[in-house]
Amino acid sequence: MSKLYGSIEAGGTKFVCAIGNEALVILESTSFPTDKPEETLQKAVDFFKQYDESLVAISVGSFGPIDVALDSKTYGYVTTTPKPNWANFDMIGFLKAQLDLPLYFTTDVNASAFGEKILDPSLNSLVYFTIGTGIGAGAIQGEDFIGGISHAEMGHTFVKRHPDDLAFSGSCPFHGDCLEGLAAGPSLEARTGIRGENISLDSTVWDIQAYYIAQAAVSATLTLRPEKIIFGGGVMAQEHMMACVRQQFATLLNGYVTVPDLTEYLQVPSIANNASATVGNFALAKRLAEQVK
Ligand code: ZN
Repeated sequence: MSKLYGSIEAGGTKFVCAIGNEALVILESTSFPTDKPEETLQKAVDFFKQYDESLVAISVGSFGPIDVALDSKTYGYVTTTPKPNWANFDMIGFLKAQLDLPLYFTTDVNASAFGEKILDPSLNSLVYFTIGTGIGAGAIQGEDFIGGISHAEMGHTFVKRHPDDLAFSGSCPFHGDCLEGLAAGPSLEARTGIRGENISLDSTVWDIQAYYIAQAAVSATLTLRPEKIIFGGGVMAQEHMMACVRQQFATLLNGYVTVPDLTEYLQVPSIANNASATVGNFALAKRLAEQVK
């Protein structure tokens, strides 16, 4: 029987569980809202139990912060999330108790970055940002995720304020006006009273948003010098955003270092339908299964 791999994309608003084959093709998937931890994870367990026989490993790409240090007492936990009921919850422990399989644990953005790298093996380094309800970023160098004692947290880096945005104090519960507080989806509604998808394209709020996202790209460029920076997530699904970000990036970087052509360098995901994390999880599960053999 051919081997199957599992993916759990644990998002702040929904979970996507999927089964993939050895070619990392999605065979089945299901999604459900992120509710209380036990109820939500039980749905994931029930989904994977149908494939008991041929399922060899699962990778979980989760919203964060999470503990990914294998030697930590709280490895596998969601840690300081403001999301109700999920702070300090042992996600991997819960899954492990019911699914006797190797489980890989990383952030949703690391899983997405890995998926994009699988699709373009010529890339040796990349950064993947998601700009949605929150902001996160994962970075890969060679075969490894960038991170020391834990995963990167580039969504909460500090940015220079846009001169027309000084009245807004930001929506991050930890820092106020960090990148996430100023550029994630909720900041659009907090400034305008209108949900992002309903704000007209000529509103100046998009320029403000792009200014912060471009700063994130400049910081990632200067810190890591990656070959490519990919922007996924709901905010970037607005078609005009990428062009706006490229333009502001060019102005801010001001030719200081050489980067590839911006239409190549700053890109939306190559894998459609927000499935980068799913493909990345299949590949991480496959790699884990080969390591524990
Ligand atoms: Zn923050």
